[in-house]
Amino acid sequence: MQKNSLLLFNPSFITRYAPFLRDRYLLTKSNHLRLRYVVGGSAVFAVLAGMALGNVLTPSAQQIALLEPAAGLTASAQLQDPLRRDPAAKESAALVAQDEQAQTNSLQPKLVQVKVGKGETLSEVLEDAGVSLQEASDVVKVVSRHINPRQIRAGQKFDLRLDPDSTGSSLAVTEASFAIDPLRTLRVERGNNGDLQSRMDEKPITARRQAARIVIDGSLYMSADKAGVPDRITANVIRLFSYTVDFQRDVKNGDKMEVLYDSYLTPEGELVKTGDIVYARIVLGGKEYPLYRFKTKDGTEDFFTPDGRSIRRSGGLMKTPVAFGRLTSGFGMRNHPVLGYTKMHKGVDFAAPIGTPVYAAADGVIEKAGRFSSYGNYIRVRHSSKLGTAYGHLSRYGKGIRPGVRVKQGQIIGYVGNTGRSTGPHLHYEVLVNGVQVNPRSVKYTIDNRLKGNELERFREHIRRLGQEYVQNVPSVKLARN
Ligand SMILES: [Zn+2]
Repeated sequence: MQKNSLLLFNPSFITRYAPFLRDRYLLTKSNHLRLRYVVGGSAVFAVLAGMALGNVLTPSAQQIALLEPAAGLTASAQLQDPLRRDPAAKESAALVAQDEQAQTNSLQPKLVQVKVGKGETLSEVLEDAGVSLQEASDVVKVVSRHINPRQIRAGQKFDLRLDPDSTGSSLAVTEASFAIDPLRTLRVERGNNGDLQSRMDEKPITARRQAARIVIDGSLYMSADKAGVPDRITANVIRLFSYTVDFQRDVKNGDKMEVLYDSYLTPEGELVKTGDIVYARIVLGGKEYPLYRFKTKDGTEDFFTPDGRSIRRSGGLMKTPVAFGRLTSGFGMRNHPVLGYTKMHKGVDFAAPIGTPVYAAADGVIEKAGRFSSYGNYIRVRHSSKLGTAYGHLSRYGKGIRPGVRVKQGQIIGYVGNTGRSTGPHLHYEVLVNGVQVNPRSVKYTIDNRLKGNELERFREHIRRLGQEYVQNVPSVKLARN
């Protein structure tokens, strides 16, 4: 590019030597950038027309102009100082004109949709749309009453209505709507007194049951995705069946998965979030595994097989009730590391760093949670009238853990520590039968977790209802029936 022509057409050069002029750029439909000079208010003084892009403009201005070839919109504000901002940010600050006339006069009222570019602030986006710095800062102030403007992310789109202000020389925001998320729209409006007013419109969400039927072809995830099942739901289905199914090995093409789950939608049917699975069934090589979510009379919710067995509670005691634990001392006689003589070790020790989560080995009720002699911080859980487990040397207790609280198998009840008579961070774990410590390996513990009597009847009725709901909601089943 030749220096001379650049200098001649460089807007800052002209405005520097003719300070009474204000430059305005216009982008024509034929991709030409038109520079117009304005004296004082709005009188057109001179038009420098027909500069083919690529010849004379500074590289950044060129880049910007080319980005929006179809915009047909006055680009005055956008191009006032092309070098001031990062061109990449500009790239996304797309302006889409809905007002055809706008290209011939920058101070026509206009409706624009602006898109936030990477690293751009709300104020910059507004300035790019053609409003003054002061006006942009007023809008930001109003927006800040509802949200932190810094939370506005790249890619978000806003609608603006701009009108000439009282001086007629710049544009003011008369209406703006910011879609904050699928549920919330912030509306800003200029009141009769000229002040900006704002309100947050929130859409109601409705819960709906969603049903899907997937025939596996390739990976389970891909097949579920094709059927429109959100990944989170698929992951939860896999977790539910992970007690019984090896998903890496057992799942073959032609196998099936059915799922019924809650979803929360906007009035337009846009998914806001997914909720819980209420029914899931997988069919592997012709073998069926249905599970139903059900709330038992004690208020806990769980998944049950059709004969009323809870999937989670059927496994007996957890063998290692600590995350990342390494067994360092078993049950039986040993040389006591602190006392120095042979003593019966009435539990098993798992070495683990301080703070490692400790789990309830089975469902039960907290019997004790507090200091207890050489155990330091100690928890005892009652699982049945006969069976209990105990956890010693903890650094601290899990959230809400205190006597009388009901816990589920695998729930975090405390954290590994080094309290009491202990030589290093570890979990001391005991299994007690009728209050006496026993070797955990010797305990054959299976809880009778079947629903009985009235509860089983209630569960059967629940299954029947879920079955109906599934059939009503799943598209393919409905088609097959018609
Ligand atoms: Zn121990």
